[in-house]
Amino acid sequence: MIGYGHQYIDDADIEAVVSVLKSDFLTQGPFVTKFEQEICKITGAKYCVSVSNATAGLHIAVAALGLGYDAEGITTPNTFLASSNSMVYNHVKPVFADINPVSYNIDPADVEKHVTEKTKLLIPVHFAGLPCEMDKISAIAQKHNLRIIEDAAHAIGSQYADGSYVGNCKYSDMTVFSFHPVKTITTGEGGAVTTNDEALCQKLLMLRSHGTTKNENLLTKNPGPWYYEMQALGFNYRMTDMQAALGYSQLQKLDFFKKRRREIVAAYNKAFAGMQHLKTPVEPENVSSCFHLYAVQIDFSALGKSRTRVMQELRNKGIGTQVHYIPVHTQPFYKNTFGYKDGDYPVAEKYYEQELSLPLYPGMSDEDVENVIKAVKEIVG
Ligand SMILES: *Cc1c(COP(=O)(O)O)cnc(C)c1O
Repeated sequence: MIGYGHQYIDDADIEAVVSVLKSDFLTQGPFVTKFEQEICKITGAKYCVSVSNATAGLHIAVAALGLGYDAEGITTPNTFLASSNSMVYNHVKPVFADINPVSYNIDPADVEKHVTEKTKLLIPVHFAGLPCEMDKISAIAQKHNLRIIEDAAHAIGSQYADGSYVGNCKYSDMTVFSFHPVKTITTGEGGAVTTNDEALCQKLLMLRSHGTTKNENLLTKNPGPWYYEMQALGFNYRMTDMQAALGYSQLQKLDFFKKRRREIVAAYNKAFAGMQHLKTPVEPENVSSCFHLYAVQIDFSALGKSRTRVMQELRNKGIGTQVHYIPVHTQPFYKNTFGYKDGDYPVAEKYYEQELSLPLYPGMSDEDVENVIKAVKEIVG
């Protein structure tokens, strides 16, 4: 069975984890620091705070901004639930802006339309690895005095049109990565927040560890080496050293992962070009996506087959697919809590109706890729 995504674990990864198990520190040991430093090196950010997963990272990133109880934030409906849930955890009202029909990323023009005097935060999501138009988004943020957290769960290794790497926080206050097994690199569960702002970094460190600090510069008094202070209501969102060792080892393969992902995408794009009912993803000039997903649009009604049937026919040939994403505002919780309804974000909804994510992961063999191409041409051709 070829799934829509799969982790890539080699002997070096296994040895890295085992070495931690034989060491003195199972959590918050040397590998956590090493992993965080490596993410800084790869992205160009000044600071990195690793966390237990990206949802936790988004939670404390929003919390670190201290937006109060009456704020609104804007994100895309074409995302995983955690992007907007992170606002709800912090009493920030989630507002959505519709997507661009070509990039499937949040549409800056629609963001502008949803800004009110309560808007304090933007969470753009680099869908499938493709960076959002951050120059336009940061211009909107500057104009209205908004903070920006980039949800880069899909986008480690991706480059903006200016060539710099997602996560450098050139256009934002913070960037959040996910290391769930289906994402580009994995730590089992895991995430990281990058920032260039030292004060935000200190807040993130505190919030991931019960709101406590031992940092001499932050303590209100310092009676001795045992002493710590709780200065905020925080959480236990720490990453273990086993996870960090795996993450560090995985990062050494990021260039290979990106190269292989892009090779597969290029093979798909070439094979599917000119298909009547299937549209391949578009990468704007100068942008370099690390392609987490291969998201195609299929006109199922013109094809005369339902998506369920196409998925089943592909499954019968050993090919797994998935759908990314059910527009978040159409989830019952969002409808019931915030009054959103079907039709509120028509571009995202139409996109969703036609979406199918085909297998994409670095461990796919050329034969796997050929099998997917053959099956898709047969079933959707
Ligand atoms: C996977 C994902 C998350 C959550 O990541 P976890 O590490 O599983 O908590 C957040 N946002 C997006 C866009 C994701 O795809």
